[in-house]
Amino acid sequence: VTTEAPSVGSSRTGILRSIGCLATPEAASSEPRVLRRAALVWRDGLVEWVGEEAALPEGLGLAETGYAQHEASGALVVPGLIDCHTHLAFGGWRADEFVERLKGTSYLEIARAGGGIARTVRQTRAASAGELYAKAAADLEAMRALGVTTVECKSGYGLSYEHELELLEVYRALASSQPSRIVPTLLAAHVVPAEHARDRDGYLRMVTERLIPEVARRGLARFCDVFVEDGAFSVEEARAVLRAGLGAGLAPKLHVDQLGGDLEGGGGASLAAEVQAASADHLEHVSERGIADLAEAGVVAVSLPIASAVLAQPMMPARRLLEAGVAVAVATDYNPGTAPSFDLHLAMWLACTVQRLAPAEVLRAVTLDAARALLLHDEIGSLEPGKVADFVLLDAPDLDHWLYHFRQRTVVETFVEGERVGCSAPERSH
Ligand SMILES: [Zn+2]
Repeated sequence: VTTEAPSVGSSRTGILRSIGCLATPEAASSEPRVLRRAALVWRDGLVEWVGEEAALPEGLGLAETGYAQHEASGALVVPGLIDCHTHLAFGGWRADEFVERLKGTSYLEIARAGGGIARTVRQTRAASAGELYAKAAADLEAMRALGVTTVECKSGYGLSYEHELELLEVYRALASSQPSRIVPTLLAAHVVPAEHARDRDGYLRMVTERLIPEVARRGLARFCDVFVEDGAFSVEEARAVLRAGLGAGLAPKLHVDQLGGDLEGGGGASLAAEVQAASADHLEHVSERGIADLAEAGVVAVSLPIASAVLAQPMMPARRLLEAGVAVAVATDYNPGTAPSFDLHLAMWLACTVQRLAPAEVLRAVTLDAARALLLHDEIGSLEPGKVADFVLLDAPDLDHWLYHFRQRTVVETFVEGERVGCSAPERSH
């Protein structure tokens, strides 16, 4: 599809012509901008111009001035997709638990029997950094083939000072060697590790007094996240961890109101509002007060419909949140227990069919509002002059048709910072 002329400029400078339909959310409007027969021009990895091809300014995008020439051949073009909630680096799998849950055993029953997160912690600690890196790198390559250009990556399967740092160092190595944009999050407060079962306070002191300062000193994470749930951490414990993170420059995120939630008060959602979290994630059981608090504080709600489907739970009431004025993002929650798939297209399709979001709302949920959940909305998430030239070419006539005629292998090309990063990578499984 793409032919590149000999370029005299930056490899990150180019023009894409013959776009059948370009769809991008815009910060200033709840409606996406949709252009037919469009062109996209970028210089040094940043969008320079976007519009109808007939309106292309004379002299812009010429091969002799250094623009690589690309043809979209009628493809649909959207901003690079953003998976704003994953647990990318982990050791081992838990297919047997998946089958147990299908037979009716609950998530909490499996966890009490030594399965669940604790089991992945044992398997992750047993893996070498090289093994964790290789598996995550292969997953990132397959995600780029789905058009996913930015991936938030949580620690949380190390759960000791050394192992949490090791996971974040794996993410740093991936960030410097992979074309994908990696956004690392410290999730040391995922659960209390088995060896600290009788000493929760000791574990939390290690996290707040030693781990968080060291993560900040090494520049290993952008966010600090806590899992607020029965069997994980209380609202009070989460508040202490997030305040320590804030003190070290790590912005708060939260896993809240997933399995039960506080239906009387605001639950975890109200804590997210109180600490001005970048996002509150899950929210399957969010209360009306929680929704009101999120709206008032401007916290992004991140829906994880694959996890809800795997756990046979009701999904986040995304429509109610949107109507209350809360921005809604959609992500995979990729992890070996409750969301063993990194297929963001599947999460998008569930957001349409089960949560009843329109394709335009779902596009915004995996681009501009996902960028907001990562505090990167000034740089990525839409195709506007000055923003990063991350985009995807899709084999579909328009946005509605893409999510309606759901099928594999719709991605034609993926670009990060104006450079092609490959597509149709074979999915490696394990
Ligand atoms: Zn998660």
